[in-house]
This record gives sequence, C-alpha cells and structure tokens, in this order.
Amino acid sequence: MIWTDEADQLLLDGLKAGRTYTELGLQFGVTRNAIAGRAFRVRGPQTPRGAIPFMKLTTRNCHYPLENHLFCGLAAQGGGSYCPEHARRCFRPSNSKVLKLATAYRY
Ligand SMILES: [Zn+2]
Repeated sequence: MIWTDEADQLLLDGLKAGRTYTELGLQFGVTRNAIAGRAFRVRGPQTPRGAIPFMKLTTRNCHYPLENHLFCGLAAQGGGSYCPEHARRCFRPSNSKVLKLATAYRY
C-alpha cells in the first residue's frame, strides 16, 4: 500500500491506542511485518520509558529484559530482582507465598 500522511497518522493513532501490529495489519490490509516496518520508519526505534542498559543495572533495578538489550530498570521490590509488575509477569503465582519467594530471589 501507499503510506499517505493520513495513513501514517492513522497508524500512529492506532499504536498510541495500544493496538497490536497484527490488528493494525488487518485494519490496513497489509502484513504485520509491513506495519512493523512502517512504524519503525515513522516513530524510529522505541525505547521503553525507564529502560536502562545492562551496564547501568544495579541490584535495586528490575532485571526484566526488554528489547535491544535493555532492561526494565524500575525499582525492584522487596530486595528481589524485579519490579512488582514483572515479578507478577515472570512467576504468575496463584498464591502470595510463591511471589514472596520469587521476588526475594537474587542472581
Ligand atoms: Zn520491571
């Protein structure tokens, strides 16, 4: 397809609204890869807010790996290696005992 200014704007709006490349691909009638490629061209590489490279990680930062060799970097909870959000995502404990164990774990 031809990416007009209007199409780019729609794409950006969709991304801002949290739509996935797959969903946007369906909306525009192109492949997921086409959306990803176009998103990269209009937005540039995305660095998640707060993300830090490995060299800058301390024991107080969340060690959850993101893309491009960056890590979450938010404050780790309870002396563990992950922020509350990523501790949940990594371990998905159904009871808090497991969560406590998981977040108390250090490398
Ligand atoms: Zn995190």
